[in-house]
Amino acid sequence: MGKTKYIFVTGGVVSSLGKGLTAGAIGMILRRGGLRVRLQKLDPYINVDPGTMNPFQHGEVYVTDDGAETDLDLGHYERFTGVPASRASNYTTGQIYMSVVEKERRGDFLGGTVQVVPHITDEIKSCIRRLADPEVDVVITEIGGTVGDIEGLPFIEAIRQMRHDEGRSRVLYVHLTLVPYLRAAGELKTKPTQQSVSLLREIGIQPDILICRAEQPLTEDLRRKIALFCNVEDRAVIEEKDVDRSIYEIPEVLIQQGFHEVVADFLGLPLRPPEMADWRAMLGRIRRSSGEVGIAVVGKYIKLQDAYKSVYEALHHAGAEVPGGETGTHVNVERIEAESIEQDGPERLSGVDGILIPGGFGTRGVEGKIAAARFAREQNIPYLGICLGIQIAVIEIARNVLGLAGANSMEFDPDTRHPVIALLDSQKRVTRMGGTMRLGAFPCRLSPNTRVREAYGGAEETRERHRHRYEINNAFRAAFEQAGVRFSGLSPDGDLVEMLELENHPWFVASQAHIEFQSRPAAPHPLFKAFVQASIRRRQAIGR
Ligand code: GLN
Repeated sequence: MGKTKYIFVTGGVVSSLGKGLTAGAIGMILRRGGLRVRLQKLDPYINVDPGTMNPFQHGEVYVTDDGAETDLDLGHYERFTGVPASRASNYTTGQIYMSVVEKERRGDFLGGTVQVVPHITDEIKSCIRRLADPEVDVVITEIGGTVGDIEGLPFIEAIRQMRHDEGRSRVLYVHLTLVPYLRAAGELKTKPTQQSVSLLREIGIQPDILICRAEQPLTEDLRRKIALFCNVEDRAVIEEKDVDRSIYEIPEVLIQQGFHEVVADFLGLPLRPPEMADWRAMLGRIRRSSGEVGIAVVGKYIKLQDAYKSVYEALHHAGAEVPGGETGTHVNVERIEAESIEQDGPERLSGVDGILIPGGFGTRGVEGKIAAARFAREQNIPYLGICLGIQIAVIEIARNVLGLAGANSMEFDPDTRHPVIALLDSQKRVTRMGGTMRLGAFPCRLSPNTRVREAYGGAEETRERHRHRYEINNAFRAAFEQAGVRFSGLSPDGDLVEMLELENHPWFVASQAHIEFQSRPAAPHPLFKAFVQASIRRRQAIGR
C-alpha cells in the first residue's frame, strides 16, 4: 500500500464514552484484517505529560517501552492491537505549546507573529504525521475530551486541515456519541447526537462514521433518522451497545455490523475479514468461566476505577487462561484501601486467595501495605508485589525476619538506620528524558531454579517496563539471601535486583518492574498467570 492513511476518533455529548477502547478496537480490527496500524492519543490538557498528575484525577500512568509516561488509553491500544506504543503515541497541549515556544525563542519563526493557527495546528499535524511511515498503512488518532471543549479546538481544527492536506480518500472521521435512553419517555433520544455532529460541522468536519453508545438497541428507524439528520450513510451508523461482560467484546460488536467494510470502502483499504479465532476463543473461556478466585489489591487509589487499570486487566487476562482448556476462572478483585488495614489490621485479608500490592508513591498507606505483605508471608497466602510492592516486601522482611527495626525506604524515611530501599547509582542509568526516574523497558536476567524462571517458561532473560526512583539496596543482599530470599531476577550486570521470591512460601514473588503493562488478553503475563494459579491452589487447599 502507498502512503499512510488517517482515521480520527472524536467524542461528543459526554466524556467517558470509552473512546480509548473504541479506538483500540478499531486498531485491532484493521490489524487483524492485515493492515499495519499505529495508534495515538492527543490530550488537550496543558500538563506536559501525565507523569506528575494525581492518579485520582487522571488514573494510571501508562509507561511505554521507550520510557514515555502516557495516558492510560495507550494501554487499551496495546492490549487490543498488540502494537507497541511509543513516545510519539501521546501528545498533550502542554508538549505542543512547549515545542512551539521553544522554536519561537530560538528565532525559528523569524520574528513573525506566532499564532494558534497556523503554528499550533501545524505542530499538531506534525505530531500526527510522526507516526506515518512507509511501513504504516493507517494511523488512528484519538482526540481526548469532548467536541465543543474550548481547549480541544486547535486539535479539531488540525484534523480538519488533515483532510484538506492529504485528500478526501486518505482521511476518515469517526465520531463517538451517546444515544441516551429516557426512562420517562421510554425511548432512545437522538438529539444530543445531532447536536454534537452539528458542532463538528460548524468547525468544518463532516463525520463519516458515527458510533453510538446506547443502553438499548437502536431500531432501524432510529438508525435511519440519525443517518439522515447527521448526513452519514445508513450503514455508517454503528451501534455500540453497553457490553456487560467484557470490554474485549467491543471489536466483535463493531465487526458484526460491518464496521470494517465501511472503513475499507471509505479509505480504499485492502482489508481482509479480521481473523478473530483466538480472540473469540478467549471470550468463550471468559463466558464459560466456572470457578472463582479472590484477589485483594491493596493500594492507595482504590476508590478510583482507573488508577490500577492495567493491574486489574492483567488479573482478568490471567483468569481467562486458567485452569485452561475451555474455561477460565473468574477473578474477583477485592480492592482494599491500605489505610483501612492500618486502622483495622490485616485480618480481613484471610478471606482472599491472593494478595497483590501495586505500584505507588508517597507515604500514605505504606504501613498498611507492609502489614498486608507480612500477613501474606506469615499466612502462606500467594503474594505478588509490583514496583512499590517489591519495596514493601523488602521492608517487611527486613523488619520482621532480619530484625532490622525501623528499616525503611529512603522515600518514606530519609534518615532510617536501615535504608533497605535507597537511591542507588541506578540513577546513572537514567538516560532518557523525564527527570529522575528509571523509565521504560530494561532487560532482566532470570536466575535458574526459581519460580520466576519457571513461570517465564524457562526463559533466561526478559524485558519489563520500569517507572521508579528507588532501588533495593545491595548492601543488604547477603543478609536477605541468608533469610531465604532469592533474587530471581537481576539486571544483566547483576547490579540491580529486579525480582525476588521467598524460598519457604507457596508463592511469594515481587518485581521492581511494572509487569502489568505487558499483559495481553489471550496472552497473560507469566507472573500474573502463575500468581492466579497459586491463588487457585490455595483456595482449593483450604477447601473454599
Ligand atoms: N515510589 C517508588 C519509587 O519511586 C515505587 C514507584 C512505583 O511503584 N512505580 O521507587
